[in-house]
Amino acid sequence: MQDIKYQLCPLCRTDAKFYFVDYENRKYFDCENCKRYQISIGAERYLTTVGSEIPLEISKFSSQSEDDEAVVILLSSVASTEYPQEKISITRAKKSELKL
Ligand SMILES: [Zn+2]
Repeated sequence: MQDIKYQLCPLCRTDAKFYFVDYENRKYFDCENCKRYQISIGAERYLTTVGSEIPLEISKFSSQSEDDEAVVILLSSVASTEYPQEKISITRAKKSELKL
């Protein structure tokens, strides 16, 4: 049983559901606009510092997932101050490959 919580989607800022995964290091969101994605606590915090353009781009990418897919959003170790979006790694994965 998952403990479903509610907060504004960190990507599109509408009401969304999530529960914690990976020992509360990540949140697994289910958003009407962005569909399903996992985001690390660090990546979520980072996205609050970059304005709305990058989160909305990720939202668009995530919204194109198939039903059996989810997007994974993590902080990237190859950080670059020149291209801040490179601090984030975004990958589409099969839900069956994720710990949910
Ligand atoms: Zn959303």
